[in-house]
Amino acid sequence: MEYDWITAKSILSPRQKNGQYWFGIDYTVNLYRGCNHGCIYCDSRSQCYGIDDFSKVRPKKEALVLLERELKSKKQKGVISLGAMSDSYNALEKELQLTRGALALFAQYGFGLSLETKSDFLLRDSDLFQQIAQNNGLIIKFSFSTPSQEKAKKIEPQAASPAARFHALRQLSEKGIYCGVLYCPILPFLTDSVAEVQQMVAYAKEAGAKFIYPYWGITLRDRQRDFFYAQLDHHYPGLRTRYAQTYGSAYACGCPQVNNLQQVFQQACQKNGLFYRMADIINGYRQKIPAVEQISLFK
Ligand code: SF4
Repeated sequence: MEYDWITAKSILSPRQKNGQYWFGIDYTVNLYRGCNHGCIYCDSRSQCYGIDDFSKVRPKKEALVLLERELKSKKQKGVISLGAMSDSYNALEKELQLTRGALALFAQYGFGLSLETKSDFLLRDSDLFQQIAQNNGLIIKFSFSTPSQEKAKKIEPQAASPAARFHALRQLSEKGIYCGVLYCPILPFLTDSVAEVQQMVAYAKEAGAKFIYPYWGITLRDRQRDFFYAQLDHHYPGLRTRYAQTYGSAYACGCPQVNNLQQVFQQACQKNGLFYRMADIINGYRQKIPAVEQISLFK
């Protein structure tokens, strides 16, 4: 197969931290640019990222050579977020194995991993997840905007179905891997009913999730908003008008019933023993790292 390779100068970026930092990550890595999962709300389509033809996946040339060089040069180990701007288990990964190669390097050089995905193909790499988890810290987030099979076909058309994602979550959870649900975004007027929220918590629990972290709404801007609205017109005629009337040109578009939803969600999580606060979720996987490694990873 012919690939449209892109050139990158560096691949490992340090992450600025604040009090509530995102799943405890220290670095970010993207081995690919673009994503073929087709989520209609994807923020990575925004102009500021400058990725034209976002649905086409392009691998980064010599990504693993660059990555190894940069990992070796870091005095401070840490947790690396893989594929935040592009699902690491995309259409090219089966053949190119850049994600698998990166995981092997994280295991070799003593780095932890924070991975999010909408694919079940990650099961291929269970062996490496176990190695990373034992030594360096690991958290896997299966990303969902809905537990509904039917809605997911329209709003995340090329991603694995919610049932397949829950199945993969269970497989990893049964191997003792710390994983859960990144419930994000929850789409106003579309996936934000009380019943759906309760269903999400129930399915996550059933699959062996340790946590669910929600985002009650969606962000919309420039060409990403245009794309989202065009898809709404196609699948849910009339819904664009409701969005436009409610949010105008706002970037952050929160679910109108957020207080009620949050209450229902928190009660369901507490009842089912699921973490939902960022600090608890981070502590949950830090506690699984051997004590000696914790000192070097998180000081
Ligand atoms: S899987 Fe993630 S990166 Fe890919 S289209 Fe969906 S939201 Fe965007």
